[in-house]
Amino acid sequence: MKSVNILGAGIAGMSAANFLAQSGFKVTIYEKCSFVGDSRDGDYEGIENWIFSENVSDFIKKIGFNDKKIIKYPVDEFYVHTDSSTPILVKNNLPFFNLVKRGSTKECIDYQLYKQCLKNDVRFVFDSKKIDNIDIYATGSKKATAYVNGINFETNAKNQSHLLLGSSFAPKGYAYMLIVNGEGTIATVFKKNKIKNQSPLQKCVDYFATRNIKFNNIKYFGGKGSFNYKKTKLSHPFFVGEVGGFQDLLFGFGIRFSMLSGIAASKMISGSKVSAYSDFKLLRKKMKLSFINRKLYERLNDKQMFKVALKFSDASKPLSILENAYKWNVKDLVSLRKIKHKYEIYSS
Ligand SMILES: Cc1cc2nc3c(=O)[nH]c(=O)nc-3n(C[C@H](O)[C@H](O)[C@H](O)COP(=O)(O)OP(=O)(O)OC[C@H]3O[C@@H](n4cnc5c(N)ncnc54)[C@H](O)[C@@H]3O)c2cc1C
Repeated sequence: MKSVNILGAGIAGMSAANFLAQSGFKVTIYEKCSFVGDSRDGDYEGIENWIFSENVSDFIKKIGFNDKKIIKYPVDEFYVHTDSSTPILVKNNLPFFNLVKRGSTKECIDYQLYKQCLKNDVRFVFDSKKIDNIDIYATGSKKATAYVNGINFETNAKNQSHLLLGSSFAPKGYAYMLIVNGEGTIATVFKKNKIKNQSPLQKCVDYFATRNIKFNNIKYFGGKGSFNYKKTKLSHPFFVGEVGGFQDLLFGFGIRFSMLSGIAASKMISGSKVSAYSDFKLLRKKMKLSFINRKLYERLNDKQMFKVALKFSDASKPLSILENAYKWNVKDLVSLRKIKHKYEIYSS
């Protein structure tokens, strides 16, 4: 039995570990925190249903986890708010995304993946300082161009999801409010150096306060991510998840990218090279498309964002508009070439 060492017990590290353990490897994960999810804040994150072809449950099953053991809250409608208009309802017949909680407690996806890894005999070393003989690096976000400011809170408001667009809520980014069973998250995701002397987070909180949302037991959190394209190789030692640059560059959805990049590295280690390259190619394609989408998104002014939101609201299947934005066609290839000249593409 061969052994594999992984650094980082997050989404990518545990996806890789679980897959390798099921393939007969002896896997050890070294984690710098005292427990899984300790580096996260208990906020709700969405696993999107539009970038990859399988729905969230099928995807989770395909990569070797028991989907039934992961607590998810499907969201098939949300309101879009822009500076200048009344909220717009966007509704679909299938869920846009599934909300999962991030952190160390039982309700969190981090804990649920950990339990499944344990079942497959993955060994965890917490409070670890280990940095040598690592096969897979899965240590999360490092260099950031996108920042997240948020609050978690308790509330008596009903379950609901909101997306906020426009320069005062989140310059070149977006903000959201999610409420699940009395727990809420408001967060603003914005681009580096774009917010001077203003507080988009406070603006969002004030905005919902005027809409009669009560916030109790508020806890602030922060995070980072990337809006830049990074070329990572599929070779040993492997860099997976956000440390490898695997993330949706439009809105920062990184959970599925992290899982799949962890699986691709594991397949290389276990000898399934063709399948590994196919996963890797898919990740690259989706990242390139998300980069194009980001560059287009950044060109929208507040009025145009409102128009885009209306387009989604009027569509009978708005989810398919998002799906189409992540599919290849010749036009995309041409625009990527143009964009490459116009904007610097970062490579590691
Ligand atoms: C506030 C916020 C909201 C987000 N919302 C969404 C969302 O709605 N949907 C979505 O898909 N994505 C979202 N993302 C992105 C998503 O969380 C990440 O893409 C994903 O968690 C990355 O997985 P990862 O395994 O690379 O990193 P993580 O899951 O962060 O795990 C990294 C692990 O490595 C450990 N580590 C770090 N350094 C070391 C070291 N030197 N030695 C040992 N261990 C180490 C950390 O403690 C951590 O446990 C969000 C991110 C943030 C910050």
